[in-house]
Amino acid sequence: MKILITGGAGFIGSALIRHLIAETEHAVVNIDSLTYAANLGALEDASQSPRYIFERADVRDRHALANALAVHQPDGIIHLAAESHVDRSIACPDEFITTNIVGTFELLEAARAYYERLEYPRRNVFRFLNVSTDEVYGSLRDQGLFTENSAYAPNSPYAASKASADHLVRAWHRTYGLPVVISHSSNNYGPWQFPEKLIPRTAINALHGKPITLYGRGNNVRDWLYVEDHARALVRVFEHGKTGERYNIGAHEEWTNLNLVRRVCGMLDELAPAPGIGARERLIEFVPDRKGHDHRYAINATKTQNELAWRPNETLESGLRRTLRWMLDNPAWIDAHVAHDEQNAPASNLRRPQGE
Ligand code: NAD
Repeated sequence: MKILITGGAGFIGSALIRHLIAETEHAVVNIDSLTYAANLGALEDASQSPRYIFERADVRDRHALANALAVHQPDGIIHLAAESHVDRSIACPDEFITTNIVGTFELLEAARAYYERLEYPRRNVFRFLNVSTDEVYGSLRDQGLFTENSAYAPNSPYAASKASADHLVRAWHRTYGLPVVISHSSNNYGPWQFPEKLIPRTAINALHGKPITLYGRGNNVRDWLYVEDHARALVRVFEHGKTGERYNIGAHEEWTNLNLVRRVCGMLDELAPAPGIGARERLIEFVPDRKGHDHRYAINATKTQNELAWRPNETLESGLRRTLRWMLDNPAWIDAHVAHDEQNAPASNLRRPQGE
């Protein structure tokens, strides 16, 4: 199959494309506008494949999307393009509304027009996978897990924009018959993640002996999923998920932010000892809590495991080790981000709180 992927130059999209090119027969058309979060370096190997095409386009540009669909004739769409960082959505929600909501609307309209003109049997095969998040379900107390039946209760502008996109996707299925599936994954980590997110920023600051800031007392709980496990799950949902249904994806790895950051520090002490820095845990500092900070996310992925025969391969321990090993083996990637940070806002960026 030929799959049109939006946001394929981002963290999860690039992992998905690497997986599709290396492990499957599918061909990929990657549509990405290349925001600050994109990194085409993550696609260097995949882009050598004749099964890979890249087009720079914005999902808010319906004409460009319609053109890409007409030219490339994909058999399905996996939609990942989004503004993805909660802290940025609190500071400046505008792009989250236009990209995540309006962009999804434009893509749905382009997809609908394309789908309605598709001939059988290709029309039977076509599907639209919307890659969503567990954050649309809001916050959990200390007990319980999100299931696909949990009510939507988004709290941050990011979560609200993703929830809005999900509602549009559902409506385009119910109203126009567009064959859609929606996936909700927990927090991802792994190679190539932009270091505004908790794990890569912690690791980079820890490696340089800089302060590692945590919101509140670091008691918020997140459920961590290795990005390659997510990529495999997305392919299962895309290929075998039931039209109109939603699938939760998570690895059942709940950690408080404080314990996670301590584990990153401990692992780096072991993998990259630096006598000048000492035990990196001492770099942890607490800062005032994020506005509306959700207390806990935790995913029940039983439906995806049972119906789609998917299981995560990595525990947090093994996935974190792979991620940190990857960073240590790619100092140029680290240097590029440190240089970028220092150029933009030297001291303040390094002390910026680290949202998940
Ligand atoms: P990312 O920020 O790393 O990448 C987003 C990509 O989308 C970038 O390549 C960017 O250039 C592109 N993009 C942004 N705006 C665009 C636009 N207007 N037009 C075209 N391209 C645009 O994000 P990510 O972490 O890879 O997340 C991918 C998707 O998965 C998002 O939809 C996100 O909401 C969802 N998700 C992420 C996580 C996570 O932990 N990172 C968890 C669950 C769901």
